[in-house]
Amino acid sequence: MTDLLALLRRRIRVTGPLTLAEYMAEALGHPTHGYYTTRDPLGRAGDFTTAPEISQMFGELLGLWCADAWLRLGRPDPVLWIELGPGRGTLMKDAWRATGQVPGFHRAVRLFLLETSPTLCEVQGQALAHCEPVWIERMADLPDGPVLAIANEFFDALPIRQFQQTDRGWRERLVDWDEASGKLRYVLAPKPDPASTLIPASISAAPVNSIAEVSPAAVSVTAELSHRITRFGGAALVVDYGSTRSAAGDSFQAVRNHEFADPLVAPGEADLTSHVDFQRLAEVATESGAVVEGPYEQGGFLAALGINQRAEMLKAGANDNQRDAIDAALHRLTSRNADAMGELFKVLTVLSANLASNNGET
Ligand code: SAH
Repeated sequence: MTDLLALLRRRIRVTGPLTLAEYMAEALGHPTHGYYTTRDPLGRAGDFTTAPEISQMFGELLGLWCADAWLRLGRPDPVLWIELGPGRGTLMKDAWRATGQVPGFHRAVRLFLLETSPTLCEVQGQALAHCEPVWIERMADLPDGPVLAIANEFFDALPIRQFQQTDRGWRERLVDWDEASGKLRYVLAPKPDPASTLIPASISAAPVNSIAEVSPAAVSVTAELSHRITRFGGAALVVDYGSTRSAAGDSFQAVRNHEFADPLVAPGEADLTSHVDFQRLAEVATESGAVVEGPYEQGGFLAALGINQRAEMLKAGANDNQRDAIDAALHRLTSRNADAMGELFKVLTVLSANLASNNGET
């Protein structure tokens, strides 16, 4: 039994079953045993690989998208550039390098990193020392001002709550300790919970046994970011796996050593995520007064930003092995095949009204 499992067992014995959000928050963020607090999970030797770890092209293009938004905002100085959940700092390192040629941009930028993991803060500090980043733990700690934001595979890590439809209405799915088997297991809350009102209207009448997921944390980060974009001007890019429309279904998953695992076994040892409900995030951003464009499929979005041309440029200076690696990375990032990210991953853009493409100044 992992140390964290023993702690959770004790907690459940005292206070009763946990919401999935409480379980995820402990499994990922526990100060001494949490998955993100204790390790660098990214890359081949870790548990999963992300787009910026696949190719420099990803961070470069997202960085240039931000610099273009800055130009169209009228080059505000200072401008707050924030990355949410920066992992190893790879994306921002590539974004920073690519935007070095944009006159005045780096001079205007104040870089902020929203990160909970001390281990990853340290890795980010090494990768990004030359960008003089400031770390924050909550969006509320960001100063006022125009903002450019990037979040890649951040929202999928935020805690969710799950509800199951029953013949008496939605009941929350909780994590309980089963004395007989000595394992964690799901149980349904006996009574309705007010949080079930967060279930999107489009799925509230789903049939018995359907699962609905809500993420209060994702909603509050999106609202905070969108309010700032509306108030001070700015733009955000949210890249993640998920569905364009809110849908019923259980997307809670664990990944360990690049393989799917049971999310209730070995908390703290596996990455826990869920699919992002882009429709919900788009609604929250719109309610905050921001303009939403997308979500687009990642493949099409990167193609529109010029990833094919960038790959050709890189290949021009490469040897055969490197050319093959660039082609493989391009495929993985953009193809709609099941082994690639082009279709599963979506890109949502949140813009202040003066950046929206339908206001005549594209
Ligand atoms: N964006 C990076 C890393 C993705 S992994 C990449 O694409 O490679 C998820 C990142 O979000 C990690 O840096 C993790 O530590 C961070 N994270 C997870 N939950 C968080 C939270 N609640 N607040 C801040 N950062 C969080």
